[in-house]
Amino acid sequence: MKFVLSIDQGTTSSRVILVNQLGDVVSSAQQEFPQYFPNPGFVLHDPIEIFDSVVHSLKKCIESSKVNIQDIVSVGITNQRETTVVWNKHTGIPIYPAIVWQSRQSEEIIKNWIQEFGIDFIQQKTGLVPDAYFSASKITWILKHVEGASNMALNGDLLFGTIDTWLMWKLSSGKIHATDVSNASRTMLFDIFKMQWDQELLEAFGIPQSMLPIVLDTCADFGSINEQYCGKELPITGDAGDQQAALFGQTCFTPGLVKNTYGTGCFMLMNIGQKPVISHNGLLTTVAWRIQGEITYALEGSVFVAGSAVQWIRDQLGFLPTASDSEPIAAMVDDNGGVYFVPAFVGLGAPYWDQDARGAFFGLTRGSTKAHLTRAVLESMAFQTRDVMQLMQMESDLPIQEVFVDGGAANNNLLMQFQANQLQCKVNRPQNTESTALGAAFLAGLHSGVWKDLEEIHHMRKVDKVFSPSCEVGSADSLYQRWNIAVEACRLFK
Ligand code: ADP
Repeated sequence: MKFVLSIDQGTTSSRVILVNQLGDVVSSAQQEFPQYFPNPGFVLHDPIEIFDSVVHSLKKCIESSKVNIQDIVSVGITNQRETTVVWNKHTGIPIYPAIVWQSRQSEEIIKNWIQEFGIDFIQQKTGLVPDAYFSASKITWILKHVEGASNMALNGDLLFGTIDTWLMWKLSSGKIHATDVSNASRTMLFDIFKMQWDQELLEAFGIPQSMLPIVLDTCADFGSINEQYCGKELPITGDAGDQQAALFGQTCFTPGLVKNTYGTGCFMLMNIGQKPVISHNGLLTTVAWRIQGEITYALEGSVFVAGSAVQWIRDQLGFLPTASDSEPIAAMVDDNGGVYFVPAFVGLGAPYWDQDARGAFFGLTRGSTKAHLTRAVLESMAFQTRDVMQLMQMESDLPIQEVFVDGGAANNNLLMQFQANQLQCKVNRPQNTESTALGAAFLAGLHSGVWKDLEEIHHMRKVDKVFSPSCEVGSADSLYQRWNIAVEACRLFK
C-alpha cells in the first residue's frame, strides 16, 4: 500500500492527513495557532507560528499512523489563499506578520488603485474584482509601512510568498521559492490568460518581480521537504489554494460541476473548463488547476462570513456551547419567526462587493428568541450561497443540478436541508468533508503515480447524504425576497 501526505494550512489551524491508495484517511493531526487583531480591520498571523504548527502536525500525523515512512510517496500542500508573507531572503525572517486574506488594512491602497487604473485594467488581466482581499495591496502595504522595506525590495533582498510558498521555502531550508498557478491567480499580479506575472501590474503597484516565486503547474515537481521534518526526504508534487483543492477533492472534474465550502467563509467554485469567463456581476474568474500544461478555470463566489458568524454567536453572544449546537437550538423553532441576519462584519463579498456594509439582525420582536436568531444566522449562509449560485448559473450558462458541499458547517443537517430548499437542487455531502486536504493529496498522488488518472480518483469519492428540496419553490422564494430586502437595508446603514 502506498500513502500520500497532505498539508492543509488553514486560517485557524494547520492540519496534516495521511491518505492511502484507496483514498482513505489513515491518520491526521491538527494544531490551532493564534490570530492577531492589533487594529480595527487588521487580521494577522505569525508566519513562524504557522510553520511550527505545520511541522508539529506533520510529525504527529506520521508518528500516529504507524506507517513505514518508506511507503509514503509524496506530499501535497494546500493553503489559506492570498495571505501574504514578505521575508528577508538572507535571514529567512519575515519583516512583518502574515497579512491574512480577511485583513482590510490595505483598503486605502485599493481605493487609490481603482481611481488611478480603473477596475477593468485589473480585472481583464487577473479575472479578479480589485479588493484588499488579494495579495497585491497587502505586499504594497508592507513595502510602504515597514521601514526600509521598499529599498530592500529594490535591492532584491526580499521574497514574497503566499502560505504555500512560505512553507515550501521553510521546509526545504530556502531551496524552493515556488507557487502553483491556482495560488498565483489569487495575488492580483498574475495574468490568467497568458499565465504569467504581469509586468504592467507589477510596475503600477510598485512591486519588484525579484520578490515573486516561480509559478509551476498544480501537479509538478516542486522540490523536497528536508529529512529532518518527516524522517525522510519527501517530494512535494502537488500545490493548490484551499478552494481549488476542495474543488479537486470533490472530484468536480467536468465543466458545470460546483462545490460549496462552508468554513470561516463560504466559497462556491464552478469548474468552467478551458475557457475563462469574465464576470460582469462580481464573481471572480480564477485558475482551478493546470495539469500537464492543460488549464482548467473556475468561477468563484466568495462570501466572507459564514461559519465565523456561528462562532460569533457562540463566543461573543454566548448563545451556544459549540458550533454544532446551532443545529438543535435552531431546530427548537419551526421557522425564523421573521428574523433575518446579514453577516456583513467585514463588508459584503460576491455579488455585492461592498467594503463598507456592516452586519445587522432584522425583524426582531419581543417574541424573538435565541433559537430564532441562531436560525437566522444559519439561514444567512444559505441565502448568501443562493445569491452566488444564481449569478454563477447566469454567467456560465451552465445549469446547476447538484451542489457538492464540504467544510465544518456542511455537517449541519438543518442548514443543508434549508440550502437544498433555497437552491431547489440536490445538495450532496461526501463522507469525508475535508475535501481541501483530500484534494491536495489527490493532486500530489496523481503526479507521483499513486493514482493513474482523474477517473480513478473520481471513483474514490464516497457519498454520505444527499439532501433534496422538500418545500415549494414559492415558499423558498418568499423567504429569499425578505433576505434581499434585509441586505438592501443593511447597505443603506453607513
Ligand atoms: P476553516 O477551515 O475555514 O477554519 P472549517 O471547515 O473547519 O473552517 O469549519 C469551521 C467553521 O464552521 C467554524 O466557523 C464553525 O463555527 C462552523 N461550524 C462547524 N460545525 C458547525 C455546525 N455543525 N453547524 C454550523 N456551523 C458549524
